[in-house]
Amino acid sequence: MWLGDTAAAAHHVPMDSSPHNFFNPPLAEGVRRFGFRKWYERELLSSHAHLLLTILCAVALVGTLEVFRGGSLSERLLDVVMFLAVGAIGLWSLRRYLYLLMHAEEVANQANCPDCGTYGRFTVLAEDPKGGRTGVCCRSCQSQWHIEG
Ligand SMILES: [Zn+2]
Repeated sequence: MWLGDTAAAAHHVPMDSSPHNFFNPPLAEGVRRFGFRKWYERELLSSHAHLLLTILCAVALVGTLEVFRGGSLSERLLDVVMFLAVGAIGLWSLRRYLYLLMHAEEVANQANCPDCGTYGRFTVLAEDPKGGRTGVCCRSCQSQWHIEG
């Protein structure tokens, strides 16, 4: 089901932005909705779903190469189109996998409270989606800091 959703999302999500979708909301919205740990878990899950899609595409690419040998000209053209389409989806999902994984790690590295060291227990105070900064407040000691990314 994820893979279907992922393929559908590929059509209207620009490659380099952080897309706004239900499963992977931005940090501030995700923390408000279900807390930091769940947000982080979802980012990792989604990232690994994209890795799976990348692997499936690699298998499919080998498959299209195998059928390429025989057939008429129009069949071969169709194979080329298939090869390019699968390759494009594979590259997109690989980039998405790396982006989600690195983004999740980058944020997780800043999730410790600078004062008391508590991990991942904070509330969102302010967000700046363009600058990618989220102002947060520790739930243990009320200390405030910014998370970039
Ligand atoms: Zn604290």
